[in-house]
Amino acid sequence: MNIHDKKSLILVDNISKYYGSFKALDSVRFTVKAGERVAVAGPSGSGKSSLLNSLAGIIHPEKGQVLVDGNDLAKLQSRKEMCRLVGIIHQQYDLVPQLPVIHNVLAGNLGRWGLFNSLLSLVWPRDRRQVQDILGELGIADKIDDLTSKLSGGEQQRVAIARMMIQSPQLVLADEPVASLDPARAEEGLKLITDLTIDSNKTLVITLHSPHLISAYCSRVIGLREGKLIFDLPTSEVDEHYFHQLYDIGH
Ligand code: ADP
Ligand code: MG
Repeated sequence: MNIHDKKSLILVDNISKYYGSFKALDSVRFTVKAGERVAVAGPSGSGKSSLLNSLAGIIHPEKGQVLVDGNDLAKLQSRKEMCRLVGIIHQQYDLVPQLPVIHNVLAGNLGRWGLFNSLLSLVWPRDRRQVQDILGELGIADKIDDLTSKLSGGEQQRVAIARMMIQSPQLVLADEPVASLDPARAEEGLKLITDLTIDSNKTLVITLHSPHLISAYCSRVIGLREGKLIFDLPTSEVDEHYFHQLYDIGH
């Protein structure tokens, strides 16, 4: 496939990311079409977060470029435009624990509203109805005024998902969103994230370790090791052998 294929939502064009002299990403290259659900797997330190942060425009690779919907993230000036394109759910959710749930959800509007309106909304929350509806879809409408720190891990994850839903970017990134949850909660959370991206026609790139969850919820899997892309396949073609090699199990 031509890497400059116009139908690709994401083009990762030969990126390398250095921390000092350490190469965390090494000539990584792939494309993602709109609507795909791509898992990124690989051992700790293999560069998964560096890759997702590059896709989010949080860090910029020293070599190569990342295009999302034709926009070079390193050159994109408008924060508004960036928020329309890409949103990320971090592993620790990055919620403000001492604030009520509604404020954390409305933080998803930061890019669109600008700092002034967002700060104002801390005092006088806007769009309460919209937050209520989203939390309702996620089954936690009754938590809207609760302190975020009082919520369980699974509920906090839903707050982070709600914040992403209010932002409504084309590309949803999730960095080990279920790593701190028990297996049942992990699967529930993942189902929620994938259902939402399917229903709203979004594209998902998610870091995940479990082969079972990857094949159940993603259409494709990219294997990273020591900063290099070592496979990129439809989930139907990836068997245990790939994961054992990727994670060095049984060697
Ligand atoms: P993963 O998410 O797969 O665990 P990361 O992308 O977080 O991998 O990290 C890849 C490598 O880069 C690791 O060896 C890590 O220690 C290193 N690294 C990540 N962030 C930084 C940083 N800000 N400064 C220096 N080294 C870093
Ligand atoms: Mg990581």
